[in-house]
Amino acid sequence: MAVIRFKALEKVFNRVPNHVTPPSDKTSDYYAINVFDKVKMQKYLSKDAFNHVMDAMDKGTPIDRKKADSVATGMKSWAIERGATHYTHWFQPLTGGTAEKHDAFIETTPNGGVVEIFAGDALAQQEPDASSFPSGGIRNTFEARGYTAWDPTSPAFIIDNTFCIPTVFISYTGEALDHKTPLLKVLNVIDKAATDVCQMFDKNVTKVNANLGWEQEYFLIDEALYYARPDLALTGRTLMGHASAKDQQLDDHYFGSIPERVTAFMHDLESEAYKLGIPVMTRHNEVAPNQYELAPVFEECNLAVDHNALLMDLMKKVSRHHGFRVLFHEKPFKGINGTGKHNNWSLSTDTGVILHKPGKNPKSNLQFITHVVNTVKAVYDHQDLLRASISTATNAHRLGANEAPPAILSCFLGTEVSAMLDQLEEQVTNKKMTPDEKTALKLDIGKIPEILLDNTDRNRTSPFAFTGNRFEFRAVGGSTNPAMPMTVLNAAVAGQLIEFKKDVDALIESGVKKDEAIFQVLREYIIASKAIRFEGDNYSEDWVKEAEKRGLTNVTDVPEALGAYLSDKSKKLFFDLGIFTEAELEGRVEVLFEEYMMKIQIEARVLGDLSLNHIVPTAVKYQNRLMENVLGLKEIYGEEFKTLAGNRIELIREISDHVTAIKQGVNEMVEARKVANKLDDGKEKARQYSKVIAPFLDTIRIHIDKLELIVDDEIWPLPKYRELLFSS
Ligand code: ADP
Ligand code: MG
Repeated sequence: MAVIRFKALEKVFNRVPNHVTPPSDKTSDYYAINVFDKVKMQKYLSKDAFNHVMDAMDKGTPIDRKKADSVATGMKSWAIERGATHYTHWFQPLTGGTAEKHDAFIETTPNGGVVEIFAGDALAQQEPDASSFPSGGIRNTFEARGYTAWDPTSPAFIIDNTFCIPTVFISYTGEALDHKTPLLKVLNVIDKAATDVCQMFDKNVTKVNANLGWEQEYFLIDEALYYARPDLALTGRTLMGHASAKDQQLDDHYFGSIPERVTAFMHDLESEAYKLGIPVMTRHNEVAPNQYELAPVFEECNLAVDHNALLMDLMKKVSRHHGFRVLFHEKPFKGINGTGKHNNWSLSTDTGVILHKPGKNPKSNLQFITHVVNTVKAVYDHQDLLRASISTATNAHRLGANEAPPAILSCFLGTEVSAMLDQLEEQVTNKKMTPDEKTALKLDIGKIPEILLDNTDRNRTSPFAFTGNRFEFRAVGGSTNPAMPMTVLNAAVAGQLIEFKKDVDALIESGVKKDEAIFQVLREYIIASKAIRFEGDNYSEDWVKEAEKRGLTNVTDVPEALGAYLSDKSKKLFFDLGIFTEAELEGRVEVLFEEYMMKIQIEARVLGDLSLNHIVPTAVKYQNRLMENVLGLKEIYGEEFKTLAGNRIELIREISDHVTAIKQGVNEMVEARKVANKLDDGKEKARQYSKVIAPFLDTIRIHIDKLELIVDDEIWPLPKYRELLFSS
């Protein structure tokens, strides 16, 4: 019987690519066709209901139950016209995916028929059984109910035949059990905090939006090979596999021409995304073979997060139509680039100004500098919390590996902005500035945009880089829901902006003029947060030493990093801003510890099974063949066999050594799990998995990868790296 690996490879060789021709319609003709957006609302809702929803969207006013009925009726008409038969509340629980439970739009009638119905109550709120979603102990099994509630700021949409309503998910006692609830809270808070600061510069500003433009990296792997790798299928990454002789050394994949099968997938994905109003824009090959990237035009943060979750779902579905499986894991293959999700973040006003973009005059540039300095200060003060927000079992493989930022947070600003901050630091003093000094400083500030235009130097190694009109948080992992990193970043900056306003107001009250007060406070922040600014190579050994000297923290252990959520500083930030209650925060961190522990546990189990059921028997089979060969030689040549079979005898021993090491490693790993599993404390258990069990994954793997090089290719059971990576 052929080895499963060869059956899989045969499928790959025989695959005929789907020739998907892009839709003949112009994109604009069908864009958002499946979204209940403002245009459709205007058509399907009464004027009164429409205005009510607009108020809810713009001002956050609660939806009135009576009006909800009228909104639901309009939604139903549209959805049924578009072929929907079911509806669902669509939410993002703490499992990392999205959740939905479909109900039909029907109600039975006394004469045995049905009518289509969708009431306001069903739109506004549902009560799914929450007991199977992670809550970190907030919701114990006695109080299994939770409820989902409509988020009118993210438009409803249709997938297949289901009308999906974006919702928050909360426990019956009101605690957030999802990613969206704290994000919506923080977006409100930063709106208020940033608007207050903007008012110092421009009284016309009444609203500030946080924006997010994510760049999603991913791998595409042939489905047949994926199925033949239980580790990929169960953990999302390869737990074993020797490096391919050629992988990304030649950089010949990056921005290369996209293979036809992949182009077909991309066309298909993009048209599905457009129908859902996701403005995907950029597509290209990434550095590693079979690795790609996709990025939409940036959007308001809450919508962008929903769109990321939706798109990841869509990618999983569409890839199957093309015989692919998509991988979002941060490090599916050892030794080659992993998968990130750069979070491009900025703030913008309802007057059309991007606050992280230099303006056209000294005043708007002072506003720009104000936002840059406050952002840098927020990153400095909350470096540990930001790290916590991107720390997961899967991202741990990427951070610190030499293609991704280290676990040290730092900010890159580029030469020009750095020079400007240095100048502010030097020229501004606590003494009253002369009018000439002030004019000179303002003139210099006025010059920023000219120099900056098209001149932002790029530093691809920085975890948090200024890139001309935004900051790019690059440490976020490919499989991570961007909501938490965005909740933390926006909270840190909001807290900082509130502080800034207070500090400036205090100076003004003591008689300092407004501009000068702003200068002085900025100078103070520039000095206080200087240690976080770094323009050099973040991947270098020197930086690790330098960062330590500067007092920056460097935490590579995930449970340790997650602990930062519960520091006094983080708690104060979250509680002061009303983002989390104590119970919510503690529950959430409990979920994170548990998730970490379980991911390592699953990997350990899969590695144990594969070692004992796939690798060891294969190695022994090959070893038997070698032994037969040696014995045959002995039979024919007598004592001379020792010279003739010398290297095979060595190989036999080598195989024995590896097999012994693997078996011993697996046994010890199982024992270590038994010890860890008895621990009650979530953090302690996670820590044990990180310190004691995770290292076995590496040590056992080394022996398996060595065996892969020794054992006859014809009987090796698992698709090899060269096959997984070069098969599109
Ligand atoms: P890169 O050169 O970093 O690879 P990409 O074009 O791949 O850039 O992606 C950049 C992302 O940043 C896009 O999603 C883009 O819309 C987004 N972006 C651009 N300007 C801003 C901004 N001011 N705020 C937030 N996101 C932005
Ligand atoms: Mg990019």
